[in-house]
Parts: sequence; structure tokens; C-alpha cells
Amino acid sequence: MSTKKVTKIGVLTSGGDSPGMNAAIRAVVRTGLYNGLEVFGIVRGYSGMIDDDIIPMNGRSVANIIQRGGTILKTARSQEFMTAEGRAIAYENLQKHGINGLVVIGGDGSFRGAQKFSSEFNIPCIGIPGTIDRDMAGTDSTIGFDTAVNTAVEAIDKIRDTMDAHDRLFIVEVMGRDAGYIALHSGIATGAENILIPETKTDIEELITSLTEKEKRKKLVNLIVVAEGGEFGDANGLAAIVKKRIPTADVRVCILGHIQRGGSPTCHDRLVASHMGYYAVESLLNGRFNVMIGVINNKITYTPLDKAVKERQRIGQEWMRIVKILAS
Ligand code: ADP
Repeated sequence: MSTKKVTKIGVLTSGGDSPGMNAAIRAVVRTGLYNGLEVFGIVRGYSGMIDDDIIPMNGRSVANIIQRGGTILKTARSQEFMTAEGRAIAYENLQKHGINGLVVIGGDGSFRGAQKFSSEFNIPCIGIPGTIDRDMAGTDSTIGFDTAVNTAVEAIDKIRDTMDAHDRLFIVEVMGRDAGYIALHSGIATGAENILIPETKTDIEELITSLTEKEKRKKLVNLIVVAEGGEFGDANGLAAIVKKRIPTADVRVCILGHIQRGGSPTCHDRLVASHMGYYAVESLLNGRFNVMIGVINNKITYTPLDKAVKERQRIGQEWMRIVKILAS
């Protein structure tokens, strides 16, 4: 806890966008104003801090955005903020506006930046986990995951219809370069026969054997959900292996891509975002600085930023066992 008083806060969205970021911005702005703070929106994440793209926010600035995907403040990745010179310019700009507290909505990269920045310039920063990947330690929910996974489920259900009609093997790629949560959850929810994620090793021989047997019985109707950062590359990489080993297989690939990032946030994501936004400002007001707001077992939690960026939430092996049993 610190006794330093926060009076003017900046809010920004940074790194990969995720549906529900707008609901979080809205909650931060309105909670800040309610408590008599001045609130500034920083446009395009850390780039906007360096370019002094900083705008005053009022209650109306965030009207009618809770249901919108994307982020009204825009987001960006900033190489310049990775340098000490870039961060010094960013700090000068904050000083110019009198901003003495920051709320950063983003993923672990954005929190790494926030942690460095706060330690260099002694400016309190609060992190709100906004990422569709859901791989952050210290929280059960990240803003955008629920929407992304529901988008994936809706799309995969449709693919399954045509897959069944034609007796085909479909490989569907979902997002997740280092994290398999979208693949795991959407795969289980759509009854996928196989799910390939970066966190676990796949027994490719076992997979090929089971597909070969189905092909021999002329019943190769099989849905495989892969995370983009899978062990055998993306969906096309896996399809090439299957085609090589089972040349007669009718293999189709579908890459869901960026549709998973967009769209109107689900009720769950709007609630989580609203909750986290509110507690981010409370945290600044109460002198609980440099923490990431999380939700564990429906309770708000505060994880020190340095801990939040060091640890990642891993998928338990038990899940993969369940996948196998349910798909058998
Ligand atoms: P995400 O927040 O979605 O994980 P990134 O990893 O791209 O996205 O990080 C977003 C931005 O955070 C980067 O473009 C950079 O400006 C800043 N950032 C990330 N890591 C660091 C770091 N170690 N030091 C300073 N800034 C960083």
C-alpha cells in the first residue's frame, strides 16, 4: 500500500485487442469520474503515450460502447516503448498532463511494459488482463476469452454440419500461438475427436493410426481442432502430414483467424470487464499499486505485476485425458 495520492489517471489498451476492452475502458472512466478523478484516454497504447496522443475523457466519451468489440482507444505494439529513451518521452508527456496513475488493459507484454515503466518513474500502474488467450496467471478470466471461444464454437458447429454430410476430415485452426485454451475449450464444446495444443505433446503415430483405420472403413469423419502454435505447425502443416501418410483422405482445412478477435462481447466478458475496470480505479484510490486485477473463484484478486508477468497459467494434463475419453 502507498499513501501517494492519485488525482489524474490515464487509461490505455495495448497489444492484441480483445472483445470487452471497451467495457473495461467505460468502467475505468466512469468509476474515475465518480470519484472526482480526471481521466485521460491514451490512444494506440504506449505509442500514444510517446506521441502525446492523450485526450480528456468524460462520461459521454464512453457512452454506447459496452456492446462494441475492438477498442475505441485503438491499440498498438510499440517498439519505441521497449527503449529507455521511448519510455522517458512517454513519462514527460504524462507529466505534461499531470497524469499520476495508469490503467493498462492488455496482455502479459503490456504488463511487462507497465511494470518497467512504473519501476523507472515511480508511477502507479494497474493491469487489467485483456487477452483472448486466457493464459495469464492470477485470474480465471481474461477479457475477451469467452467471446473468442464462443465465436470459435459457433463456426466449428457449422463446419461439423458440412463435415458430417460429406464424411470428411476437417482440421480447424483457432488462435493461440503459445496457449491452447481456445483450442481446448472450443474443441471440447464441439465434440472434436482430437485437440492439438502447444502445451502438450501429440502422439502423431497414434493419431495417424486412428485416422488410417477410419479411412479403411470409409468412415473418416473426424474433427481436429488445432491451436495455431501447435507442435506440427499450423493446420496446413498438420494437413500436409496427414495427406502424406494417408493419400486417399479427403482433408479440409479451415483457419478461423481474426473473426475470433472481433464481435460483440458476451455477457460474461462485459461483466468481467466492468468489474475489473471498477476495481482497477478503486485500487489506485486505495494506494494498492502495481498489481494486476484478476478474478479467482468469483472474487477479485490483486497479483503484483512482476509476478503476473513471470507466471503463466498452464493447462492441466487431466484435461487432455478427458478429451480422449469423451471423443472415444
Ligand atoms: P500483449 O500485451 O497482447 O501481450 P505485446 O507482447 O505485443 O502484447 O506487448 C504490447 C506492448 O508492450 C509492446 O509493443 C511494447 O510496447 C510493450 N512491452 C512489451 N514488453 C516490454 C518490455 N519488456 N519492456 C517495455 N515494454 C514492453
